[in-house]
Order: sequence, then C-alpha cells, then structure tokens
Amino acid sequence: MEPIVGIDLGTTNSEIALVRDGQPVVFEENGDPILPSFVGLSEEGRLLVGAAAKNQWVLAPERTIKSIKRKMGQDVKVKLGDQEYRPQEISAMILKALRDRAAAQLGVPVTKAVITVPAYFNDAQRQATREAGELAGLEVVRILNEPTAASLTYDPNQRELRRMLVYDLGGGTFDVSIVQAQQGVVEVLASHGDTQLGGDDFDDLLLNLVCDRFQQEHGIDLRANLVARSRVLRAVEAAKRHLSYHPFARIEEEFIAEKDGQALHLNMEISRQEYETLIQPLLDRTMDCVQRALDDANLIASSIDKVVLVGGATRTPLITQMLEERLGQPAHQEVNPDLCVAMGAAIQAAIIAGAEVGSVLVDITPHSLGIKCVGSQHGFPFEYHFAPIIRRNTPLPASRSELFYTFHDNQTEVEIDVYQGESDDVRHNHRVGRFLVQGLSRVPAGNPIVVQLDLNLDGILKVSARERATGLQKQVVIENALARFEREELGQARERLERLWALPGGAEEDENEDEETYRSTPQAEEELPSLVSGPREGQREAVQARALLEKAERLLDRTQPEDRVEVERLMTRVRTALTDRQWDKLTAACNELADTLFYLEDA
Ligand code: AMP
Repeated sequence: MEPIVGIDLGTTNSEIALVRDGQPVVFEENGDPILPSFVGLSEEGRLLVGAAAKNQWVLAPERTIKSIKRKMGQDVKVKLGDQEYRPQEISAMILKALRDRAAAQLGVPVTKAVITVPAYFNDAQRQATREAGELAGLEVVRILNEPTAASLTYDPNQRELRRMLVYDLGGGTFDVSIVQAQQGVVEVLASHGDTQLGGDDFDDLLLNLVCDRFQQEHGIDLRANLVARSRVLRAVEAAKRHLSYHPFARIEEEFIAEKDGQALHLNMEISRQEYETLIQPLLDRTMDCVQRALDDANLIASSIDKVVLVGGATRTPLITQMLEERLGQPAHQEVNPDLCVAMGAAIQAAIIAGAEVGSVLVDITPHSLGIKCVGSQHGFPFEYHFAPIIRRNTPLPASRSELFYTFHDNQTEVEIDVYQGESDDVRHNHRVGRFLVQGLSRVPAGNPIVVQLDLNLDGILKVSARERATGLQKQVVIENALARFEREELGQARERLERLWALPGGAEEDENEDEETYRSTPQAEEELPSLVSGPREGQREAVQARALLEKAERLLDRTQPEDRVEVERLMTRVRTALTDRQWDKLTAACNELADTLFYLEDA
C-alpha cells in the first residue's frame, strides 16, 4: 500500500511521520527527528534546508529565510539570493526535504501526505499550504488542524463525547484550542492565540538579563556584537531548557569579549525563580487566551476532559503549574510535545488509509517520585509533606532536581526519605528508600540542599543530595524502583485496610517503617533532620486554596444548577488569583468560596 505520511509544517520546526504497526514513527536524520524550518543559500549559492540554513542565519540573514509560515497566504515575495519567491515555494522546499527524508528511509517514493495547519489559518493560508505540498510533489489528502492532530495522539478512536483543551506553545507562536471528538468526528470549538509569542521570547528575556548584568559589571554590551550576541543567545536557550528540570542553570562562555587587552569570560548562574519571574507576564497572557477560548466555546473548566500540552516550550514547569491551578486537572505531555502534531498527522493519514491505529505508547512513570519534607497544611508546619520531584506520567528516562532547605539551625545532617505516590501526605504513599547525609555546615536554618532523582527505563532510581554551598554530596541507587512499587502496592494496601479495620479512627503512626533504613539511631521527633520545601511566597495560601478547590469540585456534582454557576465563578476567581500569585486576592476569593461552600454543605 502506498504510504500516506503526516507532516507538521511548523513556524520554527517541521517533522514527518508514518504509522507502522499501529504506532506513529517520526523519521529522523542523523538521530534528529526535527527539521528546522529554515531555508538558505550557502556562500557558493547551494540550497540549504534545515539545520545548515539555521546555522548560518545569524551571520548571513540576507541569504536565509526563517518563519516563512507567518507569510503563508499573503500576496508577498521574499528574496533569497538574487531571486524572489512566493511563501508557498519556500514552504515547498521544506516539504521536499521532509519528503526526501522519508522516501530515503522507506525505500519507496512518498507522494501522499496529510499536512497540519493552525486552527486559526484562514482559507487563503490553507490553500497556500496545499499549493506548497503540490509544488513539493505531494498530493495533500487532507489539511488537518494542529490541535486536532495533537488530540488524536492521545485518543485516536474516540467513541464517546470528549473535549480536550490543547495548549500549544512553540518557539514563535502560541495558541490554545478546544477540540471536541465523538464517533470519530473531531471539531475545533474555539481557538485563541498570539502569533507573536513563544519560547524565543523567553530566550530574549534571559538574553537581556544576562547582557544587562554583564554590562553592569564590565561596561560592555554583548548585544552590540553579532557573534557575542549569538553565542549568548545559544547559551541562554540551553540554560532555559535546563531550568525546566533543575532549580539552577549556569551560563559559561569563555572569551566572550575583551577589555583593555584582557579577555572577559561570561560566568553566571540563573535560578528558576528568577527565570519564572521574568516569564510570568508572558504566561499570564496565555492564560487569558485559555479563558477566552473557554468562554467562546461556552464551557467551564470542569467540562474539559483532558488538557494536552504541545510545543517544546510547554516543558516549562510553570506552565503546567499555572494550567493545573487554573483548570483544576493535570496537564498531559506524555507524548513528546515537539513531535505530537506530526504523529497526530500520521495517525490521521493511517485512518484515511483504513489502517488500525492505537494511542501513542510511551514509557512513563506511573507514579510521582519525591521526598518527605516539612510543608504547610492549614497554616501549620506539616512534617509529612510529600514534595514530588519526578511527577507521574513523566516520560522515561527522567532526571529532575529540586531545591530544599534545612529546617533547624546548625543542622549537620539531613534525612532523604524517598516516596512514590500522589498524596500530599507521605503516610499515604510508598517508601522507596532513605538515607542520611551527614557533615553539613553548621549554619542557620535555610541551608540550600539540591535533591536530584534520575530514573531510567529499567526502573533504576539514582537519588542524590548536595549541599549547595560546599558541594558535599551523597548518592544512593535504588534498583527496581518501579517494579518494587507494583509488588508492594498490593501488600501495603492490604496492610492499610487491615489496620483501618482493626483501629477505628485510622492509623496515625508511620506505617512505612522498614528495615532498610540507613539511619542507625532513632531520634526524637523535634530533632528530625528534616528538609523544608522551597520558602515560596504564598505557599501556605496556595496549599489551602488547592484544598478548598478540591472540596468545591467534590461538592459541584450535587449542587443545583443555579448555585453551580456561582461556585464555578468563585472557583475561577480562586484559580486566577492562584496562578497570578496575588495572595491578598487569593485569600479574599477563598473566603468567599468557603462561605458559599459552607452554605451549600448545609443546604
Ligand atoms: P517548537 O516550535 O514546538 O519546536 O518549540 C520550540 C521551542 O521550545 C523553543 O523556544 C525551544 O527553546 C523550546 N524548548 C524546547 N525544549 C525545551 C525545554 N526543555 N524547556 C523549555 N523550553 C524548551
């Protein structure tokens, strides 16, 4: 059968995929599935498409074209060398490179494709995409909306009515769509976005932060020199990616400038907190679009069945946090957000060809992994707080670290107590292992400790704890962390139930005590060498607000329709204040919601 491929023709990156044995596979070249959407001419006049064109862009912008997708459907021409081209022709060069990539690996010609476009593309833009396909020698069997493609990777054979919210933040564009699927018919109910907002803007903010600091220190503006600027830009983009998984990133570039005959090096550390403060206003704008899309679709947050993340920039954890707080449910990114749309296009192509397809299979952590620390509950310190570090449904292998602080003054040791599960209270989760780090500096409480978890595909979990000030580190390896959970789960559940039946009122003690402890002498409770999670402003308020939202969700089902609207409105206010980190507003909104719930509970 002649293959029908799926193509994501993106503003910054493009990919091509095909369903094989029921699963979409993205074609790679030199191990890379992504083709940068750049077209250029080399110094010798040779056509460059992809990484080669992208690499020359900073130094030879007059010979390079990027983001041609923004011009699709317009009656304009772009100059490349001494020739002028229509946007379709440039897009056709990208499509041909993708087509050649697939054909070379399949060993057969590729002539048919499903190509994706943003939901907001108008007829002229869609027609231009079709023409680009034809110019590249492809019969375009369907033009597919990007959010529809993304939704197909999670649920290709949808029977019952399902609504997904697809939040797509790429390098240069943002859009959010609400997609409804039933009996194989998928429609986009609403779509909003900002065609000038993306991960590249985060890079620019970081670039300015780094360059401003360098300028303050050395009196030299690195932005003024093209080569220095492009080096810093590349470094901050890498730092940005690192900050998605770790609390700090170091930016190091040697010999970046010269002053009085002396070489200057760039060496700076950025914390995730600083970075999040920088990008928060941009993310607020995306949250406004989420609300507008819901309003346009005439839906409330709780009528969304699944929230799906698409686009590389959605790996930023603050996005997940804000969406989860705003929509009251987890945001999914198990399917690689860079490749999701191409895979969905391939699934649509397979459906058109009459082939069997299933949801995209990925190796993920079935449970969150994290450590015990002191958190806050109902305004009081809570010593059984579970701080997840690798969250449930994270694709494997995964490496994540988080920052914690010592709880007591002169605390020279700290216990790292690793659990997996989903409860905020570790006593309802499962202990995976624990160890003691000794020899910490004698300093006041608040000594920063970075705890890192590395989980590989075989379920081997590496846990390390490092005192930031000195680099003192201890590490343990826990074999079989995942299988062990499955095995222990039954036993522990049974034990818990038995205890519950035996002790009316429930078990209060630590039920996870096991023999494999690294601690030799038991300690009095007040001396527990505990850690506290990051001293986040508003942490207490946020914890209380989340508990209140959970309670409201539970009550919603048995609430009269006329009250439901009011509860939803108040819940939205709480979520908005939570995501905007406006603690005063949050307290006021929580009080109002709590009063309403009190009345409803009584009714
Ligand atoms: P896309 O257009 O979907 O390919 O997304 C590209 C954007 O995602 C670029 O701005 C990348 O810097 C960004 N990106 C990729 N990986 C990460 C990551 N781990 N954390 C944050 N941003 C990322």
